[in-house]
Amino acid sequence: MVIKSKIKGKKAHKNKPTSKKYTKYKIEGDKIIRERSCPRCGPGVFLSKGQGRFYCGKCHFTEFKAISAKKE
Ligand SMILES: [Zn+2]
Repeated sequence: MVIKSKIKGKKAHKNKPTSKKYTKYKIEGDKIIRERSCPRCGPGVFLSKGQGRFYCGKCHFTEFKAISAKKE
């Protein structure tokens, strides 16, 4: 089988970026500080911040920020 250098219609396979869940955890002393987690999916599923709201990528839960005066 001859492998052509130009393959049309097929993209080169790229590995998915790994989950960066560990960035959501911070340990301060004895406490574990976690980011906002999804109320529907439970702890472990974090909400992503964007456009002034939190969004769950798993169940598509969206939580709007109630406090808008938190800008410094
Ligand atoms: Zn969720």
